[in-house]
Amino acid sequence: MIKINCDLCGKRAESLAKVGIEGVQLDVCNDCARFGKVVQQPKRLDAKSQVMRMKSQARQKEEKMELLVENYAEVIRKKRESMGFTQKDFARKISEKEATVHKIETGALAPPLSLAKKLERFLGVRLVEEYEESHETSKGRRINGFTLGDFINVKK
Ligand SMILES: [Zn+2]
Repeated sequence: MIKINCDLCGKRAESLAKVGIEGVQLDVCNDCARFGKVVQQPKRLDAKSQVMRMKSQARQKEEKMELLVENYAEVIRKKRESMGFTQKDFARKISEKEATVHKIETGALAPPLSLAKKLERFLGVRLVEEYEESHETSKGRRINGFTLGDFINVKK
């Protein structure tokens, strides 16, 4: 019988399970297999996770991150109403689809930064904030309290 060691804890295991952890395929023992299942759960795709995804993209690209303010939908809607525009009027003014404006104002769509800046200029409101890189890096890539780094430490 071939003896194989678990990729995570290094223990010899009679049977190894294949799991994906942060996109890496690993052969692990039964004890470690539960870590893999965590990342395979489907992620919720609501407006908030879109904003989170934009945050992580911004973190990879730039030292200074530009993030949408959390309450962008409310800020845009209130200002647009105070200026006396319907969603349709407003959409025409900024050369966007009415459906796009509607989605943004209901929080269903997080506008890309380029659009957010156009809205800022037109409405005279603040929708994009700059953050220093260090603010969020410690929160990155943690899964259920474990990072890939934790796994690597177990291996040593
Ligand atoms: Zn193991």
